[in-house]
Amino acid sequence: MPIESLSPKRFSQALLAWYDQHGRQDLPWQHPRTPYQVWISEIMLQQTQVATVIPYFERFMERFPDVQTLALAEQDEVLHLWTGLGYYARARNLHKCARQLLENYQGEFPNTVDEMATLPGIGRSTAGAILAQSRGVRAAILDGNVKRVLARYHAVPGWPGKKPVETRLWELSEHYTPDTRLADYTQAIMDLGATLCRRGTPDCGACPLQRGCQAHANGNPQDYPGKKPKKALPVRATTMLILRDPTGRVWLEQRPQQGIWGGLWCFPQTETEHPLAEALSARAFSAVDAPQPLASFRHTFSHYHLDISPLEVTVQAAGTRDTTSLGDGRWVDPRAPGKLGLAAPVKKLLATLDAPRQPRMV
Ligand code: SF4
Repeated sequence: MPIESLSPKRFSQALLAWYDQHGRQDLPWQHPRTPYQVWISEIMLQQTQVATVIPYFERFMERFPDVQTLALAEQDEVLHLWTGLGYYARARNLHKCARQLLENYQGEFPNTVDEMATLPGIGRSTAGAILAQSRGVRAAILDGNVKRVLARYHAVPGWPGKKPVETRLWELSEHYTPDTRLADYTQAIMDLGATLCRRGTPDCGACPLQRGCQAHANGNPQDYPGKKPKKALPVRATTMLILRDPTGRVWLEQRPQQGIWGGLWCFPQTETEHPLAEALSARAFSAVDAPQPLASFRHTFSHYHLDISPLEVTVQAAGTRDTTSLGDGRWVDPRAPGKLGLAAPVKKLLATLDAPRQPRMV
């Protein structure tokens, strides 16, 4: 049975009163709450929990304290500090965006959602979050937490990836966004979604919005938001070639900017049916001993599973060059690969390899 929802004024008052007592007010990006700090945190927080993000954020800020430092950095170093957070397109866009801010806006952020949302990697919700939190601009947001709170509060059916559902949620978000205390309100509604209106079992008993919440009244908050229709992920297979020189260093190559692991450093890959000899000759390497298969494992992307079979082989290289006809590559110590952005399975495999027998400078 339909119940009456709170007016926008009472909705935000209830949320802010809860936030003043229970909200998160000591997150590193809140002190100071500059557009740059909020931006970096918002991008890191996409698909990632606060507790995971904090150490990454702190390391990132230490190395890149402002737009200018980030814009002038090498992409490799940005990806290096992102290694482990996943979704590397976010880091590449972050870097691209910093360069555009420096070139076109003297290193400052624009002041409207529309202009902000033209920058790489910044959508309407991120633009709103940056402006509301750092400058107090009245701008609505709709990240995953806010979608969940509003979908439940109004029992909005359907998966938010569908346009009409998303449009309805944006309308609701606009409707409830207040005219004052924008920074706190924005943090409050995100915190409510993260800490009380959780994905699993929400803590409705402690929720300041309980009185007007339709899903709570219906007794089925966990049905909202609607789930994405399930599709079985396809499985692909690859062989990762762990090529080692006679001292034990390993050969890594930088992947093209586009596609999976764009710009990251990886082992050469070959489809399982292709012979090793072909991959070696393309790089002017020759095998010194018999290849050793290592334990296979699965890495899952959002759109497919990748079954990885590592194959370790010692090779002889012609000369000491760092490029092959296939692009940039370099020999690294598996225990100290340097400031390179590494794909997650590569990082995992490197940690299992022995250190070089005669370490050398790389
Ligand atoms: S009452 Fe429950 S379902 Fe409704 S907003 Fe609060 S925590 Fe979420």
